[in-house]
Amino acid sequence: MRYQHAVVTGGAGFVGSHLCAELLDRGTAVTCVDDLSTADPRNVTHLEGRPGFTMVEADVREPFDVTPQADLVLHFASPASPADYLRLPVHTLETGSLGTRNALALARRHGARFVLASTSEVYGDPREHPQPETYWGHVNPVGPRSVYDEAKRFGEALTMAEAQANGTDAGIVRLFNTYGSRMRGHDGRAVPTFIRQALAGEPLTVAGDGRQTRSLTYVDDTVRGVLAMAGAAGLRGPVNIGNPDEITMVDLARTVIRLAGSRSTVRYIERPEDDPTVRCPDIALARERLGWEPRVRAAEGLARTIAWFREQEADAAAPARADTAGRDGVPKAA
Ligand code: NAD
Repeated sequence: MRYQHAVVTGGAGFVGSHLCAELLDRGTAVTCVDDLSTADPRNVTHLEGRPGFTMVEADVREPFDVTPQADLVLHFASPASPADYLRLPVHTLETGSLGTRNALALARRHGARFVLASTSEVYGDPREHPQPETYWGHVNPVGPRSVYDEAKRFGEALTMAEAQANGTDAGIVRLFNTYGSRMRGHDGRAVPTFIRQALAGEPLTVAGDGRQTRSLTYVDDTVRGVLAMAGAAGLRGPVNIGNPDEITMVDLARTVIRLAGSRSTVRYIERPEDDPTVRCPDIALARERLGWEPRVRAAEGLARTIAWFREQEADAAAPARADTAGRDGVPKAA
């Protein structure tokens, strides 16, 4: 299904900026609504000036509107990295609650399809593995991570209530850890942290004994999954979007060192409170209802991401250098 005008809240962030670019590529006009609280504004500079792209700097915790009429609302505004949501705890809870209410109200007024970006964090430190959408989760409601996990759980409940009570065509995707270009090197998430450290020749800091697992999805796959959900009118979900290839943190660190051709070593540091032990999506539902599954293997996605980080370093060192990046600011895949 092709949409005419999409609103992407959080569109200047990591995932949101890739969504904006892909929507524009597919011929959909895009209004990005973002308060730039956790964004690197350069994420969307390559989009400004593209026909159909509008940037609105606004905080979705306040009611907002757009013109012209929108037929799709992708609600992606929210601090997402632990470093950000621990720094912005109340902002995070309010964005997940008030922000979701305001984004849903916009979708209702415009008669638009709505997709909430939820997260695998709703499963907490899971007791069921892999995690199907039917698993209710194991979340500490007052722990440090609760500001994010509970904001998303509330956002899911609100999205379901809005669909049931007001008939808004709303759906939920539960995204698992996504990585790729435009992540911030200091945002505290494992992939950009390891890449930054490997490129600097510093030790890669692995939490605990490094045997905890994550499932990493390359951003192009995540974007394809989100837009498949957007196109599945009437489907509420939630639907897991993630790569079931599970990897331990220490294996991830070693893979990054190898792919970066780095001499870095691994250093073990204290594990954060409530850090999940395992994380792996059951994607049977995404396969069945969306015809979606990930395509990019970790070695390929990590190599592309490392190339992008190298490019950023080179650009920072030589600002006047000619731009060799692809049209959307991402280096072309080899
Ligand atoms: P990000 O921090 O790069 O992007 C979030 C964007 O939301 C930023 O541009 C930020 O400025 C904006 N924002 C935050 N609060 C806002 C507010 N009140 N009003 C307007 N804009 C606001 O994070 P990301 O990794 O791109 O995540 C995007 C979405 O996807 C989030 O909702 C996140 O919970 C979800 N998600 C991401 C991942 C992942 O691995 N990246 C996994 C699961 C879910």
